[in-house]
Amino acid sequence: MKKDELYKFQQALYEVGNSLTSTEQELVFNERIIPFYSGKAESISLADLAEVIGIPLVQVAAIESQIHDKIKELVRQETLTPQEVGVEPALTKLVKFKLKSDGYSSAWGGSSRFLDISCGACGQELFMYQKDAPGNLFKFFVPRIVAPPEMIEKVRNLGGKALTCPNPQCNTLLAMPTTIVGDDRLAMRIVGPVRNKLNQKGLYPVPIEIT
Ligand SMILES: [Zn+2]
Repeated sequence: MKKDELYKFQQALYEVGNSLTSTEQELVFNERIIPFYSGKAESISLADLAEVIGIPLVQVAAIESQIHDKIKELVRQETLTPQEVGVEPALTKLVKFKLKSDGYSSAWGGSSRFLDISCGACGQELFMYQKDAPGNLFKFFVPRIVAPPEMIEKVRNLGGKALTCPNPQCNTLLAMPTTIVGDDRLAMRIVGPVRNKLNQKGLYPVPIEIT
């Protein structure tokens, strides 16, 4: 994003929050909400955010939705292109997911949790995954990829081909299709550098739809 565009963008965001004190603005815009949109912040729920900055949850939620609308408006007006805001992976919204509980979770030991999966070669975030079995991650079941939607699509449509890192500069081989005895779901065996990190809150950034 060019310097003057960045400035315009920041101005728009500050306008949204001018009902707050300057200290609250600093916290909300510099450290919390804005980094969400640029994909740099650690996962935090709106409730946690409200607690941290000490303003009511309804107010935080209202600001967040105003910013969301403002960004959509700017993109629609072509003041900013999605690329300038840094849409991939930047124009995102944190969504809280719930663990699925079904026959597969109990069959695999019922120790279900979410893992953030990334490429171990370049660090590119890949997806959030629900792991039901205890122990290390050696394989994954495609229907248990929770988010983001484009990775769900991508992995579903591999059609028997290997999964490589979506970062074009990396493209490292990560997983191969496999079959698991006693489980009919589409599965992938990890054959490359794949990192996983426990995601306790089930929060994951998904793209905002620009309408
Ligand atoms: Zn990679």
